Amino acid sequence: MGLHYFDSVTDEKLDYEMYFGGDFDRNRPATMYPHLTSLGACQEKALEAIAFERLMSGSTANLDREARMIDMLVSMLADDGLLWITPDLRRKPWQKINEPFVMVHGQGRMMRAMIAWYQYTGDPAWRRRIDKMVEGIEKLVVHRDDYAYIPVHGFHDEEYLRSCYTHNGWKDTVEPTDEKFGEEGSLFNHQGHIPGALATWSVLTGNERALRLSGQLVRFYARPKFWADSKSGDYPFVNGADHAHWQGHFHGHVNTLRAILEYALATDDKRLMEFVRDGYEWSRQVGFAKIGYFDHQGCATGRMIGLATKLSYHGIGDYWEDVDQYIRNHGSEMQFVPEDKPFLYSLSEGKAPAKPSAQLVTDHVVDRVIGGFSGQADKTAFFLCCGPHGNMGLFYAWDATLRYEEGVVRVNLLLNRASPWMDIDSHVPYEGKVVLRNKAAREAFVRIPVGVDRRSVHCSIGQAEIPKLWFGNYFRVVGLRPNDVVTLTFPLKETTGRWTIPGIPRVKGGTMETRVHTCRFKGNTLVELSPPLVDGSPLFQDRRRFLGGKAPMVKVSRFETPRVLRW
Ligand SMILES: [Zn+2]
Repeated sequence: MGLHYFDSVTDEKLDYEMYFGGDFDRNRPATMYPHLTSLGACQEKALEAIAFERLMSGSTANLDREARMIDMLVSMLADDGLLWITPDLRRKPWQKINEPFVMVHGQGRMMRAMIAWYQYTGDPAWRRRIDKMVEGIEKLVVHRDDYAYIPVHGFHDEEYLRSCYTHNGWKDTVEPTDEKFGEEGSLFNHQGHIPGALATWSVLTGNERALRLSGQLVRFYARPKFWADSKSGDYPFVNGADHAHWQGHFHGHVNTLRAILEYALATDDKRLMEFVRDGYEWSRQVGFAKIGYFDHQGCATGRMIGLATKLSYHGIGDYWEDVDQYIRNHGSEMQFVPEDKPFLYSLSEGKAPAKPSAQLVTDHVVDRVIGGFSGQADKTAFFLCCGPHGNMGLFYAWDATLRYEEGVVRVNLLLNRASPWMDIDSHVPYEGKVVLRNKAAREAFVRIPVGVDRRSVHCSIGQAEIPKLWFGNYFRVVGLRPNDVVTLTFPLKETTGRWTIPGIPRVKGGTMETRVHTCRFKGNTLVELSPPLVDGSPLFQDRRRFLGGKAPMVKVSRFETPRVLRW
């Protein structure tokens, strides 16, 4: 579905540019529009998500159109290695600037995408492009002592344009003093992710220049002046800036934490690892982490799934329970699925007729957005920001579900997954039952969710119940042979509680009310939420089906791949 969305919002008449966003409730029918930030930053995120979802699904649909879309993005890479937009204001007035320009945000996004494509395809052309982009980014930064920063004053003034770099260079190279300065009120949001891509590239290829530059940028972004509440301080006896406390732009801080983590991993820097762990735990105080609801936009959950997964893979924390809560709830509920169509159509009822134009498209918008992620907690709008990150959240969870090494499978999440080593058929949340179909493993460690009474867990190979061996939260199964079928069962507890969910600023303006909600869970799955997150929101309002005790069975062909990406 994610691949369907990326393909169907791509328009060949716009040289394979993707539409940026749209509204279901503004006009009738629903509308979508292009925006500078598609080519500037967000289509590059989609490019990364596409590599992930091709790998996950094995889908070969629309490969020819996709290849032309990729060629177009690659053609934006100039000799200096940077991704330049060469505007055509007559055809694309949303590009706004009348000269070629570089959006800083898009450089890191494109590098991440190219790193995914390099690993996915093995094509050395990607490696050359990434190495050149490392040199290009070096051109954008200002070096000071042991750190470096990217200036924020170009020659154009509007939002998203002021920090764009042009052939005239920077208008002012003054050092940013405040995290709140920059696009969307956040320095981190448009540039904080760049050192992460550089660090990952250095790990994959040994590019020392990338690692050096990553370290210089990280030393800048980790400065105390950008963290905690620099004006009013923090809680008594807490030095928040040392512990990555923050307030402000959720996406910006989470992206930057992940970038710092990637540098910390590349250099085995324990202090920075601890900084990111603290920052992750602070970030999950926002909103209602129990369901992965941190922000109005569907991208926030995907970002947190990525950060939590990465911290857990590297043993800096154990956040698998968090990831399970995120992906079973907001991380999947925010995706537009075919069942949403009647609701999405109903949103435009009684609205003024839309006037189609180059900047407002009405053609099959509801159908085209299926597979994308909502940009609002009431599913009334979507953005090319949330679609890619939401889909990347699905990939991170898929990646995290099962890992194989030296004959040992580790199952971190009880989700369906096919692999060359073992297939997982999960009946959760309908019933507490997971069937593992072994192919190549001799041993498996299966993480049982927190709150499950261990005495009630049963495991059998074929028909024979096996003794219980625990390794922390993992149930250990030894002596596996090919074709063994392992069945684990446990009761899934139902709990109901009242939770106060803080009002969050709406993308469409204003702040939502803070309300007390009654939440009914089955295991980690939210099955009832009253009142809804926002009046009229369909989220979590159609989940009573999970209360049934039998998982519906469907026949599908599954795809498996031995390939594991570093992301
Ligand atoms: Zn978003």
